[in-house]
Amino acid sequence: MKTLVIATGNLHKVQEIKQILEPHGYQVLGANECGGMPEVVEDGATFRENAVKKAVAAAKALKRTVLADDSGLEVFALGGEPGVFSARYAGEGGNDGRNLAKLLLKMEGVTERDARFVCAIAVASPDGTVLGTCEGEVRGHIDTEPRGNGGFGYDPAFIPDGYTQTFGQLPAAIKNSLSHRANALRVALREIFHVE
Ligand code: IMP
Repeated sequence: MKTLVIATGNLHKVQEIKQILEPHGYQVLGANECGGMPEVVEDGATFRENAVKKAVAAAKALKRTVLADDSGLEVFALGGEPGVFSARYAGEGGNDGRNLAKLLLKMEGVTERDARFVCAIAVASPDGTVLGTCEGEVRGHIDTEPRGNGGFGYDPAFIPDGYTQTFGQLPAAIKNSLSHRANALRVALREIFHVE
């Protein structure tokens, strides 16, 4: 079985990626299960740049083939905020709850609530060579208040197109079938791993 290390300490992400890639014959391990994620400054201007930084740093440090995901939320009425700052929208030392509260406050009274989650993926080999990058998205809109405890991050406020419930309310299997991460991984399977 092929083993892929995921360059993140975020257990939710590892779990989601596991559920999507294991049926395709991959053993998926979080960086924490194989030596720990090295410190990476995520100062890229794009999700893709940050994904490459994480993949290369982790692949070299752990001497494994590594898949990194860099992802976030873009709200069109806010000019694409929080974007690459999604994880630290409420400032350094913030957390998912504070980031979400800041977003909902900014969205008070805003009627145009369309948004998308974006996920960039980079895969690097143990010597740090980038084997490929790709992107996926899911479109939806921002609810007026948080609903549901599932998922993580902005999930309780994001209603994907075609649904009436947030990612926080929808079963994990539904989120994992239509999320930005699922869409990016489908492209990665096809274009980077050449799996049909
Ligand atoms: P990253 O770990 O640097 O890629 O930052 C990702 C940040 O974007 C997270 O901390 C969340 O705030 C947000 N995010 C990314 N993917 C999701 C998702 O699937 N649901 C909710 N929030 C997400």
